Amino acid sequence: MTTKSAAAPAAPSSKFHHERVLSVHHWTDRLFSFTTTRDMSLRFANGHFTMIGLVVDGKPLLRAYSIASANHEDHLEFLSIKVHNGPLTSRLQHIRPGDSLVVGRKPTGTLVVDYLRPGRRLYLLATGTGLAPFLAIVRDPEVYERYEQIVLVHGVRQKDELAYHDMLTEHLPSHEYLGELVREKLRYVPTVTREPYRRMMRIPQLIRSGALATELQLPEMNAADDRVMICGSPAMLRELKDLLEQRGFVEGSTTAPGDYVVERAFVEQ
Ligand SMILES: Cc1cc2nc3c(=O)[nH]c(=O)nc-3n(C[C@H](O)[C@H](O)[C@H](O)COP(=O)(O)OP(=O)(O)OC[C@H]3O[C@@H](n4cnc5c(N)ncnc54)[C@H](O)[C@@H]3O)c2cc1C
Repeated sequence: MTTKSAAAPAAPSSKFHHERVLSVHHWTDRLFSFTTTRDMSLRFANGHFTMIGLVVDGKPLLRAYSIASANHEDHLEFLSIKVHNGPLTSRLQHIRPGDSLVVGRKPTGTLVVDYLRPGRRLYLLATGTGLAPFLAIVRDPEVYERYEQIVLVHGVRQKDELAYHDMLTEHLPSHEYLGELVREKLRYVPTVTREPYRRMMRIPQLIRSGALATELQLPEMNAADDRVMICGSPAMLRELKDLLEQRGFVEGSTTAPGDYVVERAFVEQ
């Protein structure tokens, strides 16, 4: 791991680092990923989000973004929506390697394993770009030490929105250091709701119907053994919170660990 960033150093008083875009990958016309340099003074927990953006008319235009890269990596990675006419993403979607990106120096958030009580299994439930924080978590060796199994469920509307599918099914299981743990402990469950696919249920339905437990040959999700992180639309969060609370799960926070934690993948306007 290198410790030097090639990006221009931020002034000590600045709330931001100025990083350089290293690569951009467009998954679909609504979804893309990019990597940037990382000032190694940027500290974060896997699962955190921070403010990122572009300088527009001399001022930073910023939005909250989950950091998709793990905190042991020497670059930063983000997964982004492209919102038609969205103030930031209508611009951000055109970034290219070499462009400058503003990155907030104060990552934060609740999707952190420390905010969960100890448990046997960790369920990571995401829709859309809600996958991003979990990409950092499944690349964190400590997570594999804490849990016997990690189940990552990613719900999308169309198959081509299954970003990182190949990373999760091929690259990570054959990773030099993490591969063995991933093969032993990580179960990846992609589900698609608006076109034919081998699994077609919404996440709450997968849990409520018992289909997920049956498929994985695991007990029904329960508060004694299971810990859950949720990241998705506000509606998906509400539905899953209700489901978990009915089963006796208690929500955790940055001050009091619980059985599950949630983060919005975006805010509805
Ligand atoms: C804690 C947190 C973490 C976030 N992490 C990410 C992330 O990792 N990747 C990401 O792309 N966005 C993320 N967002 C959303 C992000 O902050 C912006 O809303 C998004 O980049 C669009 O910015 P915009 O200025 O183009 O449009 P905005 O004016 O911010 O959004 C316009 C509308 O677009 C819709 N929208 C915005 N973001 C999304 C999304 N991700 N998926 C589906 N619909 C959306 C909403 O209806 C929203 O009201 C996060 C938001 C929060 C609160």
